[in-house]
Amino acid sequence: MLLRVRPFPSFPPLSTSRFSASAHATTAASSPTTPTPPPPPQPAPPLVETALFIPPGVAQDEVSMDMVLPGSNIVIGPYAGDSKVKSVEFVKSSAKAKDCPRDPLGRPEFAVLGRSNVGKSSLINSLVRKKEVALTSKKPGKTQLINHFLINKSWYLVDLPGYGFAHAPRSAKTDWSAFTKGYFLNRDSLVSALLLIDSSVPPQQIDLDCANWLGRNNIGFTFVFTKCDKVRATKGKRSDDNLKKFQDLISNHYQEPPPWIMTSSVTGLGRDDLLLHMSQLRNYWDQEAV
Ligand code: GDP
Repeated sequence: MLLRVRPFPSFPPLSTSRFSASAHATTAASSPTTPTPPPPPQPAPPLVETALFIPPGVAQDEVSMDMVLPGSNIVIGPYAGDSKVKSVEFVKSSAKAKDCPRDPLGRPEFAVLGRSNVGKSSLINSLVRKKEVALTSKKPGKTQLINHFLINKSWYLVDLPGYGFAHAPRSAKTDWSAFTKGYFLNRDSLVSALLLIDSSVPPQQIDLDCANWLGRNNIGFTFVFTKCDKVRATKGKRSDDNLKKFQDLISNHYQEPPPWIMTSSVTGLGRDDLLLHMSQLRNYWDQEAV
């Protein structure tokens, strides 16, 4: 169902205190003494030039375009490191936020969430290069679980229940909110959420609401656009329209732009780059936790 999109209310920077993101100025500062005529209208620059996510350890004035991951606004800095997935172990399914594993080593975790059918299971399987690691229950209204996977024995990937089942009973939708919100509000080891957005459909209000909620609660996240192969392949429509619309909707509401990246689980687009981005967030998190 296509929902009408309303703009977000403004809210504070998205990043947690651990991570900073900042706008990348592309226009030269005008001289204070010489009045300059207003510039002629320009076509909107690609978003990547106007709103880069600059990670810790990188000064804004040292950013060059070769530091930006392709198909994203993410700058790669000194914290990026080994991002290969060498092992994956299923740890636990939890029916309640309070039942999620408590790791005595405090290993960091990334939570993956998105609307039902967004491509979450496919993306998780593609990230860990294993078929059917993420076998979440897809039936609307069925008990939804939080699944923890341990990667390389050093960090967790957390598969959260999908939201916004088109035909879910109202009670199941409400459960999702309480359950998943409970997870986010009580997870000290959460480095960042990956909020999946289906690029093959126009922006959905429920996704904007979810981003809004994360932002309001100061939970850092990355927009991961899924099914970007489909978008590219669509004939007759401007391929990147949905992405552009979504980015336009969010662009005015962030003091510091959230990172975003295009992916496809079919072609593998963005997979390695997303893992690299996660490595820099994780390495910074690890260092801060010492
Ligand atoms: P989930 O409900 O969010 O876990 O979504 P799934 O991973 O089960 O994917 C839902 C549907 O989208 C399935 O039919 C997938 O084959 C399809 N799908 C998932 N990822 C992609 C992708 O990157 N490209 C394309 N073209 N289809 C995808």
